[in-house]
Amino acid sequence: MKDYLLTVKNLTITLADKEKDIKIVDDISYSIKKNETLCMVGESGCGKTVSALSITRLLPSPPFKIDGQIFLEDREILSLPIEELYKIRGKEIGFIFQEPLSSFNPVEKIGDQIAEVVRIHENFDKKTSKEMVYELLHHVGFKNPKIQYELYPHELSGGMRQRAMIAMAIILKPKLLIADEPTTALDVTIQAQVLNLIEKLKDEYGLSILFITHNLGIVAQISENVLVLYAGQIVEYSRVFELFKDPLHPYTIGLLNSVPSLTKIYSYNKSIQGNPPEPTNIPSGCPFHPRCNRKMKICETKNPPFIKIENRYVKCWLYSEEKNAHS
Ligand code: SF4
Repeated sequence: MKDYLLTVKNLTITLADKEKDIKIVDDISYSIKKNETLCMVGESGCGKTVSALSITRLLPSPPFKIDGQIFLEDREILSLPIEELYKIRGKEIGFIFQEPLSSFNPVEKIGDQIAEVVRIHENFDKKTSKEMVYELLHHVGFKNPKIQYELYPHELSGGMRQRAMIAMAIILKPKLLIADEPTTALDVTIQAQVLNLIEKLKDEYGLSILFITHNLGIVAQISENVLVLYAGQIVEYSRVFELFKDPLHPYTIGLLNSVPSLTKIYSYNKSIQGNPPEPTNIPSGCPFHPRCNRKMKICETKNPPFIKIENRYVKCWLYSEEKNAHS
């Protein structure tokens, strides 16, 4: 585990409901090395955000219940005393959310909100923390940081608000940055600028990044590894290059075919049919079987195991010897 900054083992998240417990994330394991980016990809509702929030125990418990283990280097986060956890949030793990407008306090100046993070964690005085914020705002692309420090969130454009959110996430030089769909709400050109900024900061600060997205088009640009989530389960886990060159799981193939391309103008014809299942109604067997164009009899009744193929993992009967015994 020495080389890994984050190691997640058998993470399962359930939501207590009046009638029965609902499994949102189902036994997922993954790890991120120092200074590497892992992209977590999947459609809305597949459990991406919930699993990311669990890393800093930001899910209210109850109604959520988290099982498994989450290690930040050698510290197991789920069993840490709450005072230790407060020190880790913000200082060792930074968060960027999709819509900064709802994450910032609307009635407090942007600069003061960022400076507050420094004051809480480092106990710096007002003047020192203000100077730090000026410097960092300039570094993340604010041309007039002393003026822009004084603005309220609604006075910034979407792109600048996201830059301010990034500044707040990294001001304490965290080891891990969790970016939850940070560019989804932005125009394409601004999206590219924000991605470039995140990449630049990764190199400068030696960050490890967990990047959550539903957009496979982004993955190739920023990530070394990728895991694909479907119905709360990992269905494929691979180096990015290999996944794009030779996707294994039918769901991953469908996702890739759904990425618009100027050269593949008919690609939408091959996109995935139907909708992802509700967590309250996960199909039996392989949860993807109602949408899969390669399903077999066994897929309807038995969930496939994780199969290792060289350095990759896939959860699909197509790659198992066992399917022959049932066919
Ligand atoms: Fe399709 Fe069966 Fe593989 Fe599931 S296990 S993805 S249904 S082939």
